[in-house]
Amino acid sequence: MAFNLKETIEDLVVANRILSRENVVDAYGHVSVRNPDNPQRFLLSRARAPEAIEADDILEFAFDGEPVDAKGRRPYLERFIHAAIFAVRPDVQSVVHSHSRDVIPFGITGATLRPVMHTCACIGFDVPVWDTQPKFGDTDMLVSNMAMGRDLAARLGVNATALMRGHGSVAVGASLREAVHTAVSLNLNAGFQIKAAALGRVTFLTKGEVDKVNGGQRPYVGVERAWEYWCLRAGLPYRKLG
Ligand SMILES: [Zn+2]
Repeated sequence: MAFNLKETIEDLVVANRILSRENVVDAYGHVSVRNPDNPQRFLLSRARAPEAIEADDILEFAFDGEPVDAKGRRPYLERFIHAAIFAVRPDVQSVVHSHSRDVIPFGITGATLRPVMHTCACIGFDVPVWDTQPKFGDTDMLVSNMAMGRDLAARLGVNATALMRGHGSVAVGASLREAVHTAVSLNLNAGFQIKAAALGRVTFLTKGEVDKVNGGQRPYVGVERAWEYWCLRAGLPYRKLG
């Protein structure tokens, strides 16, 4: 059973706190979810550190990246990331944008980020890197308009994750909980890979292994188990899905 609007907003607040507790976001970064009452709109907090977000901070946005009613609040500058991805990916219910630290080196070295551990297969076999230089030249690196958002969404393509050179990454999911799980896994996988590379040659999961992990139970049962665990760690109430 799907959540209603009020429950979805409450889950979005929990998602923000979890991402903060799990070191995916810090003062920066954000997570959005489609409006369950209108798939042409999405929900995202006003510009605020995720750890501090409350239900009252959540605003509704259209696919042009503008708030339907800003209520006098300042939205995130990079809301266009979410708008552009939701507009072209009907399968996506949630988008996480972060600057999670272990991921950054892979966006700036050409080193391939790829699943090295089974619970991280959700990041996808292919993790493209988006670079603002070819199309936009020297910028302040922020996705501050729809043209940049659309270019990032195009680079993401059908994938679950994409890196942003010199900036961060995006992770998407068929549910809010899946997107959070993928965002946490992206940072974990990056950390494992950095440690492994210091020891020797890295053996990645094969394409077939990634497909088998991701093609099993949908939604992946591990997501719900992880969500309950993360709620406990963050001292938040756990609402069972369905
Ligand atoms: Zn950013």
